[in-house]
Amino acid sequence: EKKLERIVQRIRSFPDFPSKGILFKDICPVLKDPEALTAVIDLFEQHVRQTYPQVELIVGLDARGFLFGPLLAQRLGVGFVLIRKKGKLPGPTQSVGYTLEYGMAEAEIQEDAIDAGQKVIIIDDLLATGGTLYAACELLKKQSAEVLGCMVLIELKDLNGAERVKPSPLFSLIQY
Ligand code: 5GP
Repeated sequence: EKKLERIVQRIRSFPDFPSKGILFKDICPVLKDPEALTAVIDLFEQHVRQTYPQVELIVGLDARGFLFGPLLAQRLGVGFVLIRKKGKLPGPTQSVGYTLEYGMAEAEIQEDAIDAGQKVIIIDDLLATGGTLYAACELLKKQSAEVLGCMVLIELKDLNGAERVKPSPLFSLIQY
């Protein structure tokens, strides 16, 4: 459809970034084009309203999940919660370590971020190996949240990240 086309036109690929052998998908031009950005939020909103009308919170992943998550949360009239890289959040936190497509990292959430049983959707810009989303799911499990699903703008199919996120369902707007 037209909205999807507009978004696809605004995604660029950079070889060997941030390290050799990685083909990096750059979403900056999506943000620069208000029509494309609106299309992203429209399509996410449509999916959530159809599939998860019971959603109570959007959880965004550091750092590009923060670009789309709050816009979507506002549309839906729900709150937004951050999962950050280690050492960025004040107060008591919980953390989970994980492997990235390129390196190691630790994800953190504030201990009081989510009430037990709250229904959440996790959002990020891109799914590669699924390590990041998997860590987010683990953190949310520790918080006794109910993860309804995960959503990304871009899914790199060859890396099988959707398998790693299971049993949480994955929704992606664009697949490569
Ligand atoms: P994964 O944990 O699934 O291997 O990697 C996904 C995470 O790394 C996401 O948080 C995403 O922002 C980042 N990432 C990995 N590769 C790319 C890429 O090609 N483009 C963008 N924009 N982000 C990437």
